[in-house]
Amino acid sequence: MSTIAVLPSKNRQIGSWDTGQSGPTLLVTAGLHGNEPAGVAACERVIAHLQEHQPALRGRFVALRGNRQALAEQCRFLKRDLNRGWGQAAIDALHKRVGDERSPEDLEQIDLLQCFVDVERSASGPLLFVDLHTSSAEGSPFLCLADTIDNRRIGLATGVPIILGIEETLEGASLEWFADRGIAGFAVEGGQHDCPDAVDNHEAVLWGLLMRLGMLPEGYVDLAPHRERLRAAVGAAPPIVEIVHRQAIQAVDQFRMEPGFQNFSRVAKGQLLAKDRTGEIRAPNACHVMLPLYQEQGDDGFFLARRVRGFWRWLAKCLRALHLSAIVPLMPGIRRDPNDRDTLLVNQNVARWFVVEVFHLLGFRKATKRSGQLAFRRRCSRRENRRL
Ligand SMILES: [Zn+2]
Repeated sequence: MSTIAVLPSKNRQIGSWDTGQSGPTLLVTAGLHGNEPAGVAACERVIAHLQEHQPALRGRFVALRGNRQALAEQCRFLKRDLNRGWGQAAIDALHKRVGDERSPEDLEQIDLLQCFVDVERSASGPLLFVDLHTSSAEGSPFLCLADTIDNRRIGLATGVPIILGIEETLEGASLEWFADRGIAGFAVEGGQHDCPDAVDNHEAVLWGLLMRLGMLPEGYVDLAPHRERLRAAVGAAPPIVEIVHRQAIQAVDQFRMEPGFQNFSRVAKGQLLAKDRTGEIRAPNACHVMLPLYQEQGDDGFFLARRVRGFWRWLAKCLRALHLSAIVPLMPGIRRDPNDRDTLLVNQNVARWFVVEVFHLLGFRKATKRSGQLAFRRRCSRRENRRL
């Protein structure tokens, strides 16, 4: 076994396994939120198994701790959320801060960035990034991903439901750093923070990926019990949902989620979801509740999502395979951003109807709103991702 000598600092690596054969790299981070140790425990189990049985792995498995100080103190973060600030502008600002301006999370992020770059540079094949999380609510595990055909394909194969569009509502999750480079990846919400099931769910996803990517010899792991575990955990949750609303909150809002909601809970139009200092917050439509907040720290009260039906998934795949997005900039009211080929600017006075829906089908996500224009960004996907 070889560890990666270039990984810089103490306790960052949970472990790695690499027997020198070329193949995919599976890079896992766990505990980016310090109150979410389940992912770390799952990685420790997988690493211990690999070290005991010493299989001839194709490629490399690397597992990293996220927020080490917050993990030690069992809190989500010390000064700021380490799963934010991974967009390029925030990273540029991070590198400009010096000395006392740097928070504990700044130091963690700088170190992690170096690890990511080292792992990417030394990869012998395609790279898949997986970020393990848990949530304060009960309910089915699920995946968040940047919406590319490759990410959908790899994500669906895990047997865990997918949520699209989190990136539209959250600025700068770590996934974004990888998505900006065309690297395949997703975040796994494994279950409730301190529930032992969350460790088992994460472990099941990791073994499923290692086997599916052809990194381990056939039959090395019996996947049947892991698949069964995930099937039971997922229950009746739909395979793909799309975020339609984020309830952003601040401490002054005095936000309180109503009790009893889980991930994927179905709610009716008008149903009471939460209260804050302005009064009641009710569901605008029938939909699913995601990530209801039942802990102190956090700036997302809840998300609302709707199911993406099979027909739309099929149509999206066809449209993208036909590269229809290439002709979209020719349509009235739509032009390519001169500074970024993957961003389209939409003048809403001209292109009025179903703009968001059509762009979603083509794999674009809403990026920003700039003076009367909507900007949509498409995620590039490296050609080598097709080998994953
Ligand atoms: Zn988390």
